[in-house]
Amino acid sequence: MKCIVKDCANHASQGKFIGSLCAPCHAFITTGVGKYSQAYRNAILIAEVPELLEALQLADALLSGANMNVSVVEKKVKSAIAKATGETV
Ligand SMILES: [Zn+2]
Repeated sequence: MKCIVKDCANHASQGKFIGSLCAPCHAFITTGVGKYSQAYRNAILIAEVPELLEALQLADALLSGANMNVSVVEKKVKSAIAKATGETV
């Protein structure tokens, strides 16, 4: 069983798990402590690049069938990814 946190590669066979979460991710989510968890890295990326959250929300709305301008959403998503990865658009 893999930790359910997005992009966390920890498996239950490798260490301590609490339910569906590896111990580091569980500790960060429940206490806010634990810089070596994927949950922390995910939270930091969104904090540093808030455009990522907006882009995800727009993409989610689009995929859910909202009547939106696809090219505007695509531009926002590409721009947010570029900012998160440090690339220029
Ligand atoms: Zn984890």
